[in-house]
Amino acid sequence: KATIARIAAGEVIERPASVVKELLENSLDAEAKRVDIVIREGGIGYIEVSDDGCGITSSEVLLAFERHATSKLSSFEDIYAIASLGFRGEALPSIAAVADLEMLTAVRTEESGTYLSLSGGEMLKHTRMARAAGTSIRLSRLFSRVPARLKFLKTPQHEASKVTEVVVSYALAYPEVKFSLNVDGRNTLNTPGNGKLRDAVLEVYGSDAASKMLDLENDTYRSSAINISGLVSPPEVSRSNRNSLHFFVNRRLIQSRALQRAVEQAYSGLLTAGRYPMGVINIRLSGALVDVNIHPTKAEVKFSDESAVFTSVQRAVRSVLVEKPP
Ligand code: ADP
Ligand code: MG
Repeated sequence: KATIARIAAGEVIERPASVVKELLENSLDAEAKRVDIVIREGGIGYIEVSDDGCGITSSEVLLAFERHATSKLSSFEDIYAIASLGFRGEALPSIAAVADLEMLTAVRTEESGTYLSLSGGEMLKHTRMARAAGTSIRLSRLFSRVPARLKFLKTPQHEASKVTEVVVSYALAYPEVKFSLNVDGRNTLNTPGNGKLRDAVLEVYGSDAASKMLDLENDTYRSSAINISGLVSPPEVSRSNRNSLHFFVNRRLIQSRALQRAVEQAYSGLLTAGRYPMGVINIRLSGALVDVNIHPTKAEVKFSDESAVFTSVQRAVRSVLVEKPP
């Protein structure tokens, strides 16, 4: 299938953070209300992602490790239009191929769950085991069979910070989900999961930032095809790096230098040199406005009408930065 070939071509599990991203997305697709993440040695030594989502039935659990057997989506074209984050049924098999993996999963309707253990993609154990509804996946010895990948990784601290970035991003995009992150035995993140973005921001950036963040929710844009919502920092709450602006398109985490620049421009004259805004910017638009000719795992996105999207984002940000008459 051309669709699948196209997707498979660019598929890569680059580093621990990409593994965590895939596992988190699966938990969110399973409608988890709570996701707990544990990593050690930057994720190279150990990664665990545990959720209270729907779980996998005993009859389907093996399919999850078969390439393309479970794709939640049939056409490449609608990835930005659909509700699920997964779309190609490739993450789990790819991850299983480069690590030692254990999975314990259970659904509400079955008496017991399933435990699997695989090494380098080969099944070692497959038994029934009790668990509350949900899924836990544990990985160790990531890339131990792929020395070229291992060599490409940076220090455990650097890899841990990449993992943290991914978890923080999703915690901000899904404030209704309770996220926890434990790094080398330390709890570094614990969001309330109460659905309030500002409370998630409080956990991530602290009370000062959270209380001062400006609300992007703006009626003017709600009627148009492009809807912008989220929070951005006022000029007095800035950062010394560019990592604190998080963009999501239809709840999918994206990377966009152009959007970053569009937002920075909205602050021009308000921030001193070397200071950058922080914020969470949720862009909702119809799938038709997204150019799909960019591989989705790359997190890069192209809009069919870039200037319309940038202008909307910039206007939304600028309008909350401008002093409003009392
Ligand atoms: P997809 O592109 O469908 O997300 P993955 O390889 O990431 O493919 O996952 C394979 C399948 O395994 C999913 O389609 C889903 O049915 C199941 N699965 C994986 N992780 C979970 C989870 N945490 N909870 C429930 N089901 C899961
Ligand atoms: Mg997936």
